[in-house]
Amino acid sequence: MAETEDRPTSIELDRNSHLGLGWADGLRVKFDIVDLRLACPCAGCRSRREKGQRSIPDDGNAVAATDAQLVGSYAIGVEWRDGRCSSIYSFDRLRRWAESAKAPEPDIG
Ligand SMILES: [Zn+2]
Repeated sequence: MAETEDRPTSIELDRNSHLGLGWADGLRVKFDIVDLRLACPCAGCRSRREKGQRSIPDDGNAVAATDAQLVGSYAIGVEWRDGRCSSIYSFDRLRRWAESAKAPEPDIG
C-alpha cells in the first residue's frame, strides 16, 4: 500500500485515554493509550522489553500522553507525561494495528 494511503486523515488525542485515528477510506480506530505505550518502538522500550521489563514507568502514575503530532510524512509521534521516551509510530504500523482490530503489539526483534 502506498504511503499516502496509510496516512491518517484525522488525529484526535485524549491524553488519558486513547489516540483516535481515521483514514480516508473510512476506517476509524481508537488505540488505548496504555496499549500504545506498551508497544512503543523506541530503542529504550525495546531493550526493556527484551529484558522482560515493562516499558511503562512503575511510579504509580497513570500513563498519559501530552501530545500527538505528525512526524514528517510517514509517522505519528506521541509524547508522554513521564518524559521517559517519545514514541514514533509509522503510518503502516498504525494502519496494520487498525486493520487487525487488536491491541497494538510491539514488533519482535
Ligand atoms: Zn519508548
